[in-house]
Amino acid sequence: MSSSEQIVALHKQYVMPTYAPGLVLVKGKGAKVWDADGREYLDFLSGIAVVGLGHCHPNVVKAIRRQAGQLMHVSNLYYNENQPRLAEALSTRAMNGSKCFFCNSGAEANEGMFKLARLWGHAQGKSEIVTMRNSFHGRTLAALAATGQTKYQKGFDPIPAGFTYADFNDLASVRAAITDKTVAVLVEAVQGEGGILPATPEFMTGLRSLCNEKNILLLCDEVQCGMGRTGHWFGFQAYGIEPDAFSLAKSLANGFPIGALIAGPKLSDVFQPGNHASTFGGNPLACAAALAVIETITSEGLLENATKMGELLASLLAKKTRKFSFVKTVRGKGLMLGLVLDRPAKELEVLLREKGLITIATADTVIRFLPPLCVKPAQVRKAAKIVADACAAWQQKTAGGSP
Ligand SMILES: *Cc1c(COP(=O)(O)O)cnc(C)c1O
Repeated sequence: MSSSEQIVALHKQYVMPTYAPGLVLVKGKGAKVWDADGREYLDFLSGIAVVGLGHCHPNVVKAIRRQAGQLMHVSNLYYNENQPRLAEALSTRAMNGSKCFFCNSGAEANEGMFKLARLWGHAQGKSEIVTMRNSFHGRTLAALAATGQTKYQKGFDPIPAGFTYADFNDLASVRAAITDKTVAVLVEAVQGEGGILPATPEFMTGLRSLCNEKNILLLCDEVQCGMGRTGHWFGFQAYGIEPDAFSLAKSLANGFPIGALIAGPKLSDVFQPGNHASTFGGNPLACAAALAVIETITSEGLLENATKMGELLASLLAKKTRKFSFVKTVRGKGLMLGLVLDRPAKELEVLLREKGLITIATADTVIRFLPPLCVKPAQVRKAAKIVADACAAWQQKTAGGSP
């Protein structure tokens, strides 16, 4: 048995089969990873938009090592030096007068955001949240209820009440979904799991006006599209609007688990002692890693790089896949890009991996590209070439016809 085969066998025996992993990865550096058998891959998945600075960025490694040897956890019954510093770094990059709550994952950040919205609306008898069809907000029960895709909810009823759905990029549909009970509208600036679908400018600015008009909250789920992924600190900033609160997780600490809820002045003091909590949330170690991430995005100019490399990747993908009839289009923002096919994309994902490029098929027909924000032009070119080669091989597989 190869070392990969041994790990796979052990995994199958002892780990619940919630995922169907593709490779045994043992080492990473920047945009590259290596499997247990020594093969090198270009990682354009980044652990699903988590490793934004690339694998093992020295600044993050150093911050974690240093903090791990000093103080890892004290609970929130005591102050720690890093939590307010991280809150300042996030708040000053988001909305004036905002404050943060820290937790451990995207779903947990969203749960906190729903509780915050409900507490704000409680006195007026408002509790329902309008979310978008095709959205994704996580796997805990309320996050599942918020997720506007029934395939994730099947088998887990009763699904918590208090969520209704509207069509993404359709303002009239959101307006129609709002009732006297509505407290908030929840949206992703770029739907990730839903297939890399950016909100239109009219939709985002329209939602802001609509929420103001109805005196309800606008909430953004920035778990995937936040932290520089779109070339802005936060995805909503491309639209010139501010939500009343938003959630973060995935790439906030480059792979160290952390989630955050950032709320503007309307909501920043709604939670009071006893309303909400998280044992691990905001511990010195997670916050040290996240602080290193924010400092590095700034010092290495990674927002600009995400914009530039995103444009390069989008244009190369469009150019090199134009001749394949099964490719419909390339869409997305910054380094959050999707190659949209007219058929299931899983087979192409596997072909790409065999040729050394890690991506992920999503929403059935879309190949999703989420390279690290530090990706270099040569790596983007190499990835685009692998995509072209894999498309050609896929076409060939069915004797010159379409696959
Ligand atoms: C991944 C994701 C989540 C869930 O985050 P977890 O950390 O897995 O709980 C929520 N919302 C969006 C937009 C995501 O992409």
